[in-house]
Amino acid sequence: MQLEEFGWNQVFSAAFDSYRQRGFSPGRVCRCHRESFLVWTPEGEFDTEATGRLRYTADSPDDWPVVGDWVALLPGYALIDAVLPRHTKLSRKQSGAATEEQILASNVDVVFVVTDPGRDFNLRRIERYLLMVSESGAQAVVVINKVDLMDDPSSWAAKVAEISGGRPVLVLSARTGAGVERLRSQISSGKTGALIGSSGVGKSTIVNRLLGYERLPTRGVRDSDGRGVHTTTHREIIPIPGAGLLMDMPGLRELQLWGGTESADGTFSDIGALADNCRFRDCLHGVEAGCAVLAAVADGGLDRRRYDSYLKLRKELAYLETKVDERAALETRRKQKRLHKQYRGISKRGGAKPF
Ligand code: GDP
Ligand code: ZN
Repeated sequence: MQLEEFGWNQVFSAAFDSYRQRGFSPGRVCRCHRESFLVWTPEGEFDTEATGRLRYTADSPDDWPVVGDWVALLPGYALIDAVLPRHTKLSRKQSGAATEEQILASNVDVVFVVTDPGRDFNLRRIERYLLMVSESGAQAVVVINKVDLMDDPSSWAAKVAEISGGRPVLVLSARTGAGVERLRSQISSGKTGALIGSSGVGKSTIVNRLLGYERLPTRGVRDSDGRGVHTTTHREIIPIPGAGLLMDMPGLRELQLWGGTESADGTFSDIGALADNCRFRDCLHGVEAGCAVLAAVADGGLDRRRYDSYLKLRKELAYLETKVDERAALETRRKQKRLHKQYRGISKRGGAKPF
């Protein structure tokens, strides 16, 4: 395969210039497992690891390779020495108390937010996913799978269209194949798609249907509680015949957002448009005074549940912002302390007094 078919373009090529001059080769990470990476190169697939230099200097998630990354490989494809700047990145907050970003995948062009007409169907969760995608920089398409189980498919699509802000909504069946070609046509050659959504909505079945064979293991949904069972946990990019590349993103149990409050306004573009008519520019749409958003809620023009969902997500992001700021301040203080100690060490040994 040519690098272009893996998504290589002029932007990556320009970013790679200085590496090329030093004899490095470009490659794309198509799978990660702990500290080992499978990369695609024009010469084939290679299993690699990071160089010692990268291990020691990588101090943020931005420096460490994730699936989807373009990387600079030492001659001989032995080791990854650097990650090229990402075109898009799909992130969430790490689970647990830590205020840290976890990058799930990079350089994805279109994210398919997959749901089904079962218990998973939840407009509020779709909004959350759409926010995550909008923050990533990728395009979003909503997929409602299992059309074979629906009496009135168009009503399902209409419900989603109300909240999808003009993003395409595809209704299809991975089981029967109905509508699947429309998904394929969304990923042109050289583009990378990704499937996200709860376990059990049929992401692996969609990949297998597009491939025409059972590449990924699929699992039945437990009848008792309707929840999907984990089948695979690794993320992998797979070339799709007659199209570009597709990544299954299994096992995202927790979807804590990572991003700024402005991404809420980007996702809820209807609310953003209403906000243009608020009396105050910095209106937070929480109190009446001249707020066009609240007026729309009052007269029924804006669904109250959607408004509540917007406020909730924005609050979550605002909280995250303060946590991120606190952490940055803490780190600065720690660094200063360390420097201060070093200076004291120097002055005790009779060196120049810095203060
Ligand atoms: P994943 O966890 O999202 O990857 O979901 P799977 O692909 O493992 O599918 C979960 C279950 O849903 C399996 O039992 C599939 O056979 C079933 N399934 C997937 N797609 C469809 C569909 O279009 N229609 C129906 N009726 N079942 C489907
Ligand atoms: Zn307002």
